[in-house]
Amino acid sequence: MPRTVLMIGSEAVPFSKTGGLADVLGSLPSAIARLGWDVTLVVPRYRGVIDGTSVGRLALKVGGYLCEPAFFEVPLGAGGEVPLVTGGRILLVDVPDLFDRDSIYGAGADYADSPRRFAVLARAAFEWCAARGTRPSIVHAHDWQGGLAAVYLKTFYAAHPVLGGVPSVFTIHNLAYQGLAEPDWLPRLDLPWSLFGVEGLEFWGRISLLKGGINSADLVTTVSPTYAREIQTPAFGAGFDGILRRRSEDLVGILNGIDVERWNPASDPHIPQPYTADDLTGKRAAKRAVLEQFKLPVDTAMSRPLVGLISRMVEQKGFDLLASLADELPVLDASFVVLGTGEPRYQDFWTSMARRHPDSIAVRIGFDEPLSHLIEAGADVFLMPSKFEPCGLSQMYSLRYGTLPVVRAVGGLADTVVNYAPGTRRRANGFVFDAATPEALLDALTRALAVFGQPRVWQRLQGVGMRQDHSWHRSAREYVRMYERLLRLRT
Ligand code: ADP
Repeated sequence: MPRTVLMIGSEAVPFSKTGGLADVLGSLPSAIARLGWDVTLVVPRYRGVIDGTSVGRLALKVGGYLCEPAFFEVPLGAGGEVPLVTGGRILLVDVPDLFDRDSIYGAGADYADSPRRFAVLARAAFEWCAARGTRPSIVHAHDWQGGLAAVYLKTFYAAHPVLGGVPSVFTIHNLAYQGLAEPDWLPRLDLPWSLFGVEGLEFWGRISLLKGGINSADLVTTVSPTYAREIQTPAFGAGFDGILRRRSEDLVGILNGIDVERWNPASDPHIPQPYTADDLTGKRAAKRAVLEQFKLPVDTAMSRPLVGLISRMVEQKGFDLLASLADELPVLDASFVVLGTGEPRYQDFWTSMARRHPDSIAVRIGFDEPLSHLIEAGADVFLMPSKFEPCGLSQMYSLRYGTLPVVRAVGGLADTVVNYAPGTRRRANGFVFDAATPEALLDALTRALAVFGQPRVWQRLQGVGMRQDHSWHRSAREYVRMYERLLRLRT
């Protein structure tokens, strides 16, 4: 019998993306399929997605809400540069009433019917399996939007002839997003009131779909070993540390990989000239292109370090620390290019910085994937001063593009970036600071800019990062090992 995994999540490249989860679900399924597993990833078919072959529809009723999800299938790896993977598919679930909307989750706050949207996603996935009599070996659900999948397996489907007893894995990509809703959603999701307790979904008088996932899954994983430890402490646990400590035996940290095909300076279609660790000429061409795109003075800026920042503009990413450095950043001997969207106060901060310092700071408010590739290639330094960082992908892209990351020592940043200090650490590949303070951030950035003036050291650090293996292959092997462990426990 082939081993099969049914993955359920809310966004996946190339169909939908608001953050790192989409990158993970765009890559991990293929990497697992390459290890011999049959993988089905189920994600919503949001507005604008036209991909997929129609493969059927079914009638579904969730807590009195009637709908008729239609399923569109895309082979895993379709459209990418990686060869198509046999034994893998993405099922896009089309329920226009729920998913054909202006934005993926809602502007500012989640859509009021979010519990229903993701309940329907999970139930559609399960009913698809049930209708075909195909029992997955493992269900692997992601983030709060996938939490209900684990809950349904332990409740609604516990005695189901096809799905009863299927073990589940729940992966936390970011504990800050908890899927909170009013308790009266329980009956509207076909869930019993008995789940409104500390062992179930109850969280400070409301329900949390994230908590449902954590408490119901057989194994819980998160996206870096350091974050797995951190979230069991009050400082990083966002109120969930006690819940996670109770499950510490079943909590595993597996570092994300990156899509090394899509993020490859030797073949990136979004940069003017390819380059490798052995020949960095193309990186200068990318720097010139970035400066031109951002209308910074090319002649002066080419010889100064270029600091890049691509991020959601939220406190998690350290934007409050950066906002405290309004006077210090412009006097550094560096130029800054910033790409992001997020909280208006941080957008306004960077817009006004760019207006006041047009020769050294430029900003683009918006989400622009091609431009993000160009910045990763063209910048010398990548700034990621996160308060917390479950894994972080951008610092790994930076390493691969020879762009030295300046990061805070938290979560996956601590697991991937090794600080450079003169005379130490042969594996150093960037600059790391500890305290979540503007001073510590400025100190690390200043250290980086000083080393930029020592080209031989700089190139050595670039070489270390560019030659590291951040591919999904290693992570996928760890996931498969974990799936197999879970199946052994069950037999
Ligand atoms: P998170 O998932 O917390 O936002 P990650 O570093 O794990 O952080 O992943 C962020 C991803 O989103 C990266 O691929 C990054 O390049 C991308 N990204 C963030 N903001 C933008 C933007 N404004 N335009 C293009 N890509 C962006």
